[in-house]
Amino acid sequence: MDTQALAEQIARGERRALARAITLVESGRADHRAAATRLLEALETDRQAIRIGLSGTPGVGKSTFIEAFGSMLTGQGLKVAVLAVDPSSARSGGSILGDKTRMEKLSRDPNAFIRPSPAQSQLGGVARRTREVIRLCEAAGYDVVLIETVGVGQSETMVAEMADLFVLLLAPAGGDELQGVKRGIMEIADLILVNKADGELQAAANRTCADYAGALRLLRKRPQDPEGFPKALTVSAVTGAGLSGAWEEMQALTEWRRETDHWTARRQAQARHWFEEEVRQGLLARLTADPDARARMAELGAAVARGDTSPAMAAEEMLESLRG
Ligand code: GDP
Repeated sequence: MDTQALAEQIARGERRALARAITLVESGRADHRAAATRLLEALETDRQAIRIGLSGTPGVGKSTFIEAFGSMLTGQGLKVAVLAVDPSSARSGGSILGDKTRMEKLSRDPNAFIRPSPAQSQLGGVARRTREVIRLCEAAGYDVVLIETVGVGQSETMVAEMADLFVLLLAPAGGDELQGVKRGIMEIADLILVNKADGELQAAANRTCADYAGALRLLRKRPQDPEGFPKALTVSAVTGAGLSGAWEEMQALTEWRRETDHWTARRQAQARHWFEEEVRQGLLARLTADPDARARMAELGAAVARGDTSPAMAAEEMLESLRG
């Protein structure tokens, strides 16, 4: 495959080339993987999108928000890509993330590109593919890449590790209790948007927003934040209220981080993190793919079970055998 030519077509913004490249990146075939790696090396690197991670539990209004927010951005002449990171365990429950039927207007928009989560069972595989698709979209000239995920398990942290900004979408709460949002998630959020701030829910949305604003002020100040961040705002994906304000905040934060070099530092740290993750995954793959290694694992496992050797000693022996 001529990956150089494909890279050039992507750089010219050819949609079909982008779609082909994504298929390549998603493929599990070894020759496709090799071609995908070559393609990623051949991509232009001087284009940078704003990568926005967006998380929220099912029903909070993610697809409605992306439809409205994405359309607002394309209306300003920006190119928007929407990707999804969908932990397989959550699949059976709600709707499929990144499903085009959930964003009808945006999916017909020539300046938008929507790609559902890949059908891979391992979150590690989904993460790699999503990172690579982000790169492809950037090289294709997309200005904003939205990465959608649900508020369960590890997927949020993973999305935060590949995004420049992390946005948490919440619904208005009935009581005065913070909706069981884990502290860890609050700590990675740059912007909390309380959605459905319209009609009868307006008052509850305002209250919820004030509660979160208060909770955010109690968090330790992070070096990558200007004064006032992280912030909580109300929006309505249905009426469009607050959407342009939210975008302004995202831009202001982006600009500040660019000027203070936090932007670059974050991307560098992320690149290092994903490199190390690739090595870890590669080692694990070798453990399971290599028949000799598998046999050795089984043997040593049995020896440990019998009490012939200790777990630590056996592990050392196993790692030693992988060296060759
Ligand atoms: P998702 O599962 O997070 O993608 O949520 P959806 O976008 O499918 O929205 C779930 C429900 O909430 C739908 O019935 C939407 O119409 C409704 N919804 C989404 N955004 C708003 C909003 O801003 N205001 C109101 N009142 N309803 C909303």
